[in-house]
Amino acid sequence: MPRDYSRSAELFEQAKKIIPGGVNSPVRAFQAVGANPLFITHGEGPLIYDADGNEYIDYVCSWGPLLMGHRHPQVLAALKRCLEETGTSFGAPTELETELAGMIVAAVPSVDMVRLVNSGTEATMSALRLARGYTHRSKIVKFAGCYHGHADFLLIKAGSGALTLGVPTSPGVTAGSAADTIIANYNDLDSLREIFRQEGENIAAVIVEPVAGNMGVVLPAAGFLAGLRQLTEEYESLLIFDEVMTGFRVAYGGAQELYGVTPDLTCFGKIIGGGLPVGAYGGRQQIMEQVAPAGPVYQAGTLSGNPLAVTAGIATLKLLQQPGVYQRLEERSAKLAGWLWEAAGEAGVEVQLNRAGSMSCVFFAPQPVVDYSSACSADPARYAAFFKAMLEQGIYLAPSQFEAAFVSLAHGEQEIERTAEAARFAFRFIKSI
Ligand SMILES: *Cc1c(COP(=O)(O)O)cnc(C)c1O
Repeated sequence: MPRDYSRSAELFEQAKKIIPGGVNSPVRAFQAVGANPLFITHGEGPLIYDADGNEYIDYVCSWGPLLMGHRHPQVLAALKRCLEETGTSFGAPTELETELAGMIVAAVPSVDMVRLVNSGTEATMSALRLARGYTHRSKIVKFAGCYHGHADFLLIKAGSGALTLGVPTSPGVTAGSAADTIIANYNDLDSLREIFRQEGENIAAVIVEPVAGNMGVVLPAAGFLAGLRQLTEEYESLLIFDEVMTGFRVAYGGAQELYGVTPDLTCFGKIIGGGLPVGAYGGRQQIMEQVAPAGPVYQAGTLSGNPLAVTAGIATLKLLQQPGVYQRLEERSAKLAGWLWEAAGEAGVEVQLNRAGSMSCVFFAPQPVVDYSSACSADPARYAAFFKAMLEQGIYLAPSQFEAAFVSLAHGEQEIERTAEAARFAFRFIKSI
C-alpha cells in the first residue's frame, strides 16, 4: 500500500493561495524532486510526523540546527523555564546573551568577541559589511556553489570572462549589487590567485563555507583553506569562514578546529539557536570593536539575542559539551555512509558519497564532486527517484540533490539500520528504471 499524502496535498493547496508557492522558504516546496511538500505536525528525537500520520526518520533536521534531534528534553525544559520565568524579549541586555557569547568565544579560539543576530543571512551580511568597513575596500570574493544567505550582493553567480565578475541570480538584484562581488571556483587556488593578482588591493574579504554544504556536500581539498589564509594575508584582505552550517557540527570548534585554519571572522547560525532563530558573527577584538556602538560600522536588531532563542542555543551547546558526543556522531555517520556506499555498489548504481562528520551527500554523479561544476554533473532526476523511494519507506531526505543530509545525536543504531535497509531497496529500484 503506498503511503497516503492527501492531507498534506490539501494543506499545500490552501497555503499556495496565501503564501507564495505555499512555503516560507523555496526548497521546502519539493519542486526539485517533483513532489508536493509534506506538512509536518510534530517531531520526536530523530522522527517527524506528517499531517496524514506518516512517520519518518528525519535527515533534514530543520536544515541543520537540530543536532540533538527534535524536542530534546533538556532543551524543552530550558525553554519552558524561560517562558514561565523570564519572557521572550525585552530589547534590553540580559545575562543570557553574555552566556551564549561566552560559550562561542570559548569554543572558537579565533573569536574574541561576537555579536548575536537572528539568522545566518544576517550574520554573513553583517560580517561582510564589517570587513568592508574595517579594510576600507569594496570588493568581496565568494565561491560558486557556496551559499551565504540571501543578501543581494551574495545572490550572484559567475559571469563570463577570465575575471568572472558576478551577475545577479535573482531579479531584483541590481547590477550595482553584483559589481562588487567576484566569483571564484571552490578548491581552485589558481583561479583565486589570478583574481588577487588583478584585484587584490580592492578585496575586503573572501567568504567561504569551509566545508561546502549548499551544493550537496563538498570537502575542502588538502591545502585549499590554508591557501586561502595565506593569500588573504598577503593582500591584507579578511578571511571569513561561513560556519553557519559547520559550526558546532563538524567539531565543537567548527571546521576551523577540524582543519586547523584560522579565519579573521566567522559566521554562525543554525546549531547555536538549537532550533530557534539565532545567528552570530565574531572574530578578533580589533575588528569586532568596529561594530556599533563600540565602533562606526552599523548593525542592529530588535529581537537580536532575545532570551528565548538564546536559551535554546545555550541548552544545545551544553549538551554538545558532553564527552564523546562528536565521536558518537562520527561513528554513526560513518556507519550510515559506509552502508549507503555498499548498497549503491551492490545495486550497481554509480554514486559519489561526500561526507564531513554528520553532514553528507549522495551524488548521482560519475566523477568525484569537488566543486560547483562537478556537483552540477549529478543527475537530479535520479536523486528525485531515490528521494521518493526513500520517502515511501519512511526516510525523509532533503528534497534536492544539492543539499546535505544531517545525522543527529538522536539517530540511534536502529534508525541507521532502517535507513540502510531502505537505501538497499531504493538503489535497486533506481537501477531498474
Ligand atoms: C543556512 C545557511 C545560511 C543562511 O542562514 P539562514 O538562517 O537561513 O539565513 C548561510 N550560510 C550557510 C553556510 C548556510 O548553510
